[in-house]
Order: sequence, then C-alpha cells, then structure tokens
Amino acid sequence: MNPAPWRIVGQGLAGTCLAWHLWDLNVPFTITDRAHGGSSRVAAGLINPITGKNFEPSWRIADFLPEAISFYQKIETQLDKTFWHPHPILRLAATPAEWEKIQSKRHLPHATPWIDRDHPIPPDSNAHAAILLRGGGRLDTLAFLHASRDFFQHHQIYQIGEIHPHDPDPRIIRCQGATGLLENQLGPHRCAKGEILTIRHPLLDPAHIRIGHGGWIIPIGNQTFKAGSTYDWNNLDETPTPQGAQKVLEILQKHGIRNPEILHHQAGIRPILRRSEPLVGPHPNGGWTFNALGSKGSLYAPGVARQLTTWLLQNQEPDPDLNLTRFLSHHAR
Ligand SMILES: Cc1cc2nc3c(=O)[nH]c(=O)nc-3n(C[C@H](O)[C@H](O)[C@H](O)COP(=O)(O)OP(=O)(O)OC[C@H]3O[C@@H](n4cnc5c(N)ncnc54)[C@H](O)[C@@H]3O)c2cc1C
Repeated sequence: MNPAPWRIVGQGLAGTCLAWHLWDLNVPFTITDRAHGGSSRVAAGLINPITGKNFEPSWRIADFLPEAISFYQKIETQLDKTFWHPHPILRLAATPAEWEKIQSKRHLPHATPWIDRDHPIPPDSNAHAAILLRGGGRLDTLAFLHASRDFFQHHQIYQIGEIHPHDPDPRIIRCQGATGLLENQLGPHRCAKGEILTIRHPLLDPAHIRIGHGGWIIPIGNQTFKAGSTYDWNNLDETPTPQGAQKVLEILQKHGIRNPEILHHQAGIRPILRRSEPLVGPHPNGGWTFNALGSKGSLYAPGVARQLTTWLLQNQEPDPDLNLTRFLSHHAR
C-alpha cells in the first residue's frame, strides 16, 4: 500500500520550496494554507551576501546562495516567469568608523567573492563612503508564491484551510512561520515584527539596491522601490502602524529621500529562534517542521527544504546546524 501523502501546512517560502522539492521527486503531498498573513507575503526578497553593521558574510552564503539562485531559475523555466532579479548592491558607510570596519573585512577570504569595488557616494545620501557588492539581488517573493500556488492548485494539491496546532498526524510538515513560533511550539523565540513601505520617487537611482543608515531601498521597476525595515520584538502582530511608517521614512530621509509617494505599507513577523538560522526536524507535537528562516528566507529556504526532503525520504539527517532535534536537546540542558 502506498503511504499517505505528506501534508505541508503553510505556503510561505518554507512550505513552497519544500513543495517544489517533493513535486520534483514525484512524492505525493498536499499543501494547505490560510491564504492570508505570513511574512513571505510582505518580504522584500532581498539577498545581500554581506550583512549587518559588522559587514559579515551571511551564514553559509557560499553554499546556500548558488543553490537558491539555481532553484528559483529552475522554477522560472518550469513556469515561464521571472522571480529572481540579480542586482548590484551599494553598501553605504555612514561614518568613518563604519568605513573602517568595512575596510578591515573586505580583504578577508570569505568576503572577497562578494566585493566588487569602491563606488562614488550618491548625491545627498549623507554617506562617508560606498562600496559595491556583487552576487545579491531580489526575489519577487509574492510572484513566486502566487505562481507556485496557481501551479499546485491546478494540480489539485493546494487547498485553503487551517490546520489545528496539535494535529498529531505523523505525515504533517509544519511550515507555519511565526504563527508556529508564537504558539511556543519550539520553545522561546525571538520573532520580530517588521514594517515596509513601497514608494515612488523620481530622484532615486534604480541601478542599485542601496543599503545603509540602518535600512535598505530596493528598486522594483517604474521608479518604484521597497524601503525598510523596522524591528519590533514586543508588538508581534501584522498591523502596519504610523510609527513603523515614520521609522522607514526616517531611514529614507537619511538617504536623502524626502516626501516619497507612498504606494503601500505592510507589516509581518519574522520567524526567529536564533538569528536567521533555520531549523528542520521532527516536531514536538507530532509530524515534522521547517521554521525559523528569520530575515533571510529567500536565501535559505531552497537549500534547507532540499535537506529536509532528503531527511524525510531517505532518513539522512541534515547539516547538524539545521537539525531541530539537536537544537532542542541543547537548549533543554
Ligand atoms: C518586513 C519584512 C521584510 C522582510 N524582508 C526580507 C527580505 O528582504 N529578504 C528575505 O530573505 N527575507 C525577508 N523577510 C523574512 C522572510 O519574510 C521570512 O524569512 C520568510 O518569509 C519566512 O517564511 P515561512 O514560510 O517560514 O513563513 P511565512 O511566510 O510566515 O509562512 C507561513 C504560512 O503558514 C500559514 N499558516 C500558519 N499557520 C497555519 C495553520 N495553522 N494552518 C494553515 N496555514 C497556516 C500562514 O498563513 C503563512 O502563509 C522579511 C520579513 C519581514 C516581516
């Protein structure tokens, strides 16, 4: 007798990437989603190889980035659509101290593959210096989710619905994002609300993704940009607030952008257990889970979904750093 189909819960980046891996291997599954909320629906889709104030390459970037890009490109070919938009990243240093940090790290072997060259400072950007990074870009996350949903719907394996948090089915795979973590299913979490604006401004240069002054500005075409983002660890809801919009406008102002036309204002909750390092494994409530993509779902979801697929189907455990069982036993001690 054939085993029952796997039941993926959640069609964010985690559930969608997992679904594609199972589809490719001809493994029966269904995917159920609330069809609203979730952080993938608001994510800007940025992949930035070297991140943060410390100018550190993202965790395991050299492995996960090429895999993510070829994964998205494969689905693009299959669906005849474009989701991945490679883009140079202009990283601004706001102060001499920040520039000094960049200078101290740019020649390190794990950073050099992503460094292009010094770059002139954009006018009015209040920056001290600027450097161009390569290898990054933007995933049109919403387009990827919608096209995938349509595909799976067409094949009658996608349904809108709500799965009970304690459903004990051993074939369930919970890809519930922050909803799963806020229920404390996996112990204490560090989920963070984020707000993001979609703006139009005639003076912004669409040639680069711009990162600096504690935020980013991402060109998405037609002089339109995504700008963000805020971090709030206390008010964990998906409601956009005037305060959140104001914070993003302040970031824009530091970049020299005043009075942009605001087209859209969204909020979501990043699913975080420890930084932006995802976890997969058997779930304490039964079945399996894939969660904790943090702020970097577009980078990690494809590769982590592949490792989970191998675990599910061949009983081959993933990279120990992704193993939820190890993580939970370490934190129980
Ligand atoms: C403002 C903001 C900006 C961001 N920008 C970026 C960025 O530029 N680059 C990047 O890589 N990442 C970014 N992120 C992070 C990114 O959104 C996450 O890493 C990623 O989307 C998480 O995906 P997920 O599938 O785990 O969760 P989600 O996207 O939250 O998906 C979970 C899904 O499960 C569904 N669900 C939950 N419970 C149930 C249930 N019981 N029954 C049925 N369905 C259920 C939800 O409705 C949702 O559709 C951003 C996040 C925010 C908030």
